Amino acid sequence: MTKKNVNLKFEDLINKVGKYITNKEDLDLIEKAYHYAYDKHYGQKRLTGDDYIIHPLNVAYILAEIGADATTIEAALLHDVLEDCGDYSSEVKELFGMKVYELIEGLTKINKLNFSGENETMIANHRKILVGLSEDVRVIIIKLADRLHNMRTLWVHTEEKQKKIAKETLDILTPIAHRLGINQIKSELEDLSLRYLKPDIYFSIVETLNQTKIERDNAVIEMQNKVSELLNEHNIKHEIKGRAKSIYSIYKKLDKGRKFNDIYDLLALRIFVDTENLCYQALGIIHSKFKPIPKRFKDFIAMPKTNMYQSLHTTVFGIDGQLFEIQIRTYEMDKVAERGIASHWSYKEGGKSSMQDDMEQKLQFFRSIIELKNEEETEEQFVTSVKEEVLKNTIYVFTPKGDVVELPNKSTPIDFAYRVHSEVGNKMVGAIVNNNIVPLDYELHDNDIIKINTNKNSIGPSREWINMAKTTQAKNKIKNFFNKVDKEGYLKEGQEALHKELRKRKIPISEFFTNDNINKILKELKYNSIDDVYIKIGSNSLPVNQVINIINNTNDTKEEIILKKVQNPNIKVNNTKNDVEIVGIDDIKTNMASCCKPVPGDRIVGYITKGYGITIHRMVCPNVADLEDRIIEAKWTYNGVKKYPTAILVKAIKDKNLLMDIVAKTSSDDIQIQSIKAINGTDNTYEVVVLVENKEKLVKFMNSLENIKSVVSVEREIL
Ligand code: MN
Repeated sequence: MTKKNVNLKFEDLINKVGKYITNKEDLDLIEKAYHYAYDKHYGQKRLTGDDYIIHPLNVAYILAEIGADATTIEAALLHDVLEDCGDYSSEVKELFGMKVYELIEGLTKINKLNFSGENETMIANHRKILVGLSEDVRVIIIKLADRLHNMRTLWVHTEEKQKKIAKETLDILTPIAHRLGINQIKSELEDLSLRYLKPDIYFSIVETLNQTKIERDNAVIEMQNKVSELLNEHNIKHEIKGRAKSIYSIYKKLDKGRKFNDIYDLLALRIFVDTENLCYQALGIIHSKFKPIPKRFKDFIAMPKTNMYQSLHTTVFGIDGQLFEIQIRTYEMDKVAERGIASHWSYKEGGKSSMQDDMEQKLQFFRSIIELKNEEETEEQFVTSVKEEVLKNTIYVFTPKGDVVELPNKSTPIDFAYRVHSEVGNKMVGAIVNNNIVPLDYELHDNDIIKINTNKNSIGPSREWINMAKTTQAKNKIKNFFNKVDKEGYLKEGQEALHKELRKRKIPISEFFTNDNINKILKELKYNSIDDVYIKIGSNSLPVNQVINIINNTNDTKEEIILKKVQNPNIKVNNTKNDVEIVGIDDIKTNMASCCKPVPGDRIVGYITKGYGITIHRMVCPNVADLEDRIIEAKWTYNGVKKYPTAILVKAIKDKNLLMDIVAKTSSDDIQIQSIKAINGTDNTYEVVVLVENKEKLVKFMNSLENIKSVVSVEREIL
C-alpha cells in the first residue's frame, strides 16, 4: 500500500478523466496544467526520492476517481506550484483562469500553516479548513486528496511526524470527509492513520483478517450465489459484490469491547439494483428466505443519513447460521455513498456549484458550522465547538415526522428543540421521548423519537437551561433570548430617561431628533443606531447628559447664530448692595430673587433667608406672599448705572421671523439680551432675559414687543 501509484503516468490520469470529461478544451487545459506543473517542479524531489510531479499527479488521480471536474483536476495538478516554486500567481491566473487560481490559493492558505506544532497554529489551521468549506468545498476535497497521497507516503517521515500527521488526519480531516460523505477517501485515510498511530493493533487486525480470509471468502461466495439465484428467480436484475470491512471500522468495534469473532458484519454483501423500488423488492425476497435480525434492519432510503447516504441495511442468518450483513442500494445511491457531496460536480447558472448548494441545503453539519461561526467566539472556542459537537461522537435522533437530527453525544431535549428552531426552543414547555414524558435534562440516545411540547404563551426559556444544554448552539440561543429581553427593557428605560431630560431642559423632542442630530450623536459615540444609544443609557453605561450635550454644545442653527451674536455671557451682574436699602438695617448683603428678577422701579420687599442674607423680591411675587414674619421692607437707592437681569415671556402665533423681530426691537430700544429660548416644546413662546437699568426702559421694550404683528402677549416671568 505504501508505494502505491509511484509509477503513475499522465496517460493514466487522462484516461481516467476521459471517461467522464469529454470536452476537448477541458482535456487540453488539464494537459497544459500537467506540463506547467511538470516544468515548475522539474528537478525537485519528494522526500521519497520520487520526482515531485508524482505527488500532484497522484492527487489529481485520486480526485479523478471520484469524478472531479476539470477545474478541480487542474488545480490539483498545480496545487504545489504557488507554494513550492516561487510566485507564479499572475501567470497561473492568466493561463488557467481565476477559478483554478482561487482553488490553489485556498489550498495554499490552509497548507501554509501545517504542522508547526503550536497549539494556536493548529487551531488557526483547523479553523481555516472549516471556514474553507463555506467558500468553496472543492478546496477541502483537494485537501483531502492531497492528504491521502501524503498519508500513502508517510513512511518517509520520522515516527514523531508520522503520528502528528496521522492524529491531525483523524482529528479533523476524516470527520470532515465523513460529514461530506466521501467514504472512498475517508476510509483509506482512517486505515492509514491507524497504521501509524497504533501499528500494533493495525497489523494484528490485518493478520487475523488474513488468517480467516479464505474461510470468509468461501462463505461469502457461497452466500452470494444463493442470493443471486433467489433474485434471478424473481427476475430482479442485480449485481452482488462481497464487501471488505475497513480495518479502522473493525478497530472501532474491538475498541468498544467486542471480540473479533463477534463482529458479525465481517461477512458482508452489497447488492446493486436499478431502482429504489427494486431495493425494497429485493429486501422482501431475501427476508422471505433468510431470517433477519429485527433490530439490525435499517431503512436509510426512506430516512437518509445526514450526509445524504442512502441504502437498506439488514443482517440475516445465512448458510450454517452465519450472520451476513447485506446492503441493498441503487447505483446512484452507491455513488453518493462512496463520494457523498462529490457525486455532484455540475454547475448551475451563475457559477455556483450544485455541490456547494447541496452542502448548504442538505448537510446539517455545515449549517451547524456556519451557525457556530456566526457566534462571536474566539477561534479556539469555535474550533473546539466544531470538533466536539459537529465532527465527533454524534447521535442520530428523529422528529415525530421521521426527520433525522444529528446531535453531539449526551444532548438533551433542549439541544434538540433549539436545533429544530429557535422558536421551538423558546416556547418549549416539555418533551416526550419515545412516548414517555422526560425531564428537560434527559440524556438523548441514538434513534430516540422526540416530540417537543410548546406553548405559544410561554414567556421563554429558563436560565438553568444554559447549563442543561450540551450544544453551544442551544446555549447561545438561550443567552441571546435573555440578552434580547434585557435589551428591550434597557431600550425602553433609556428612551424614557432621554425624553425626560429633554423635557426638563425644555428642549423640544422633535427638534432634538433631527436626522442631522442623530447622525452627529451616533458618529460621536460610535454607535450604529439610536437604539444602541437608548440601551446604553438604559443600562446606565452612558450618562444622558453626555448625549444631549453633543447637540446642545454645538448647535449651529440659524437661531443659535443670532443668539450668540446678541447674547453677552460676559456681563457680570454686580452685587446689589448699594442699590437697595433695607429699612432699619445698615450695610447688609442683598441678592435679587431669581424667580421674579426685580429691576429698579419695581415695588420690592426683602425676604430674610436662612444663611443667605436678604433676598429681594417683587411685591407681586407669589413666592413671598405667605411668609409675612420673614418679610422686611426694602427700597431702591437707585443710581442708574447698573443693569439688572429680568425675564419676560413673549407669546406669539407661529412666525418664523419672530426671533429676528425680537432681536431687532432690542437694538432699537437699547436693551441687552442675556438669553432667548423657546419654551414648552413650541416655537411660539420665548423666554427673553434682558438686562435693563430700570422698569421704565423695560416697559417701553415690552410695549415694542407687543407691537410685533404675531405677538399675542408680553409679560414678566415669575417662576
Ligand atoms: Mn500537496
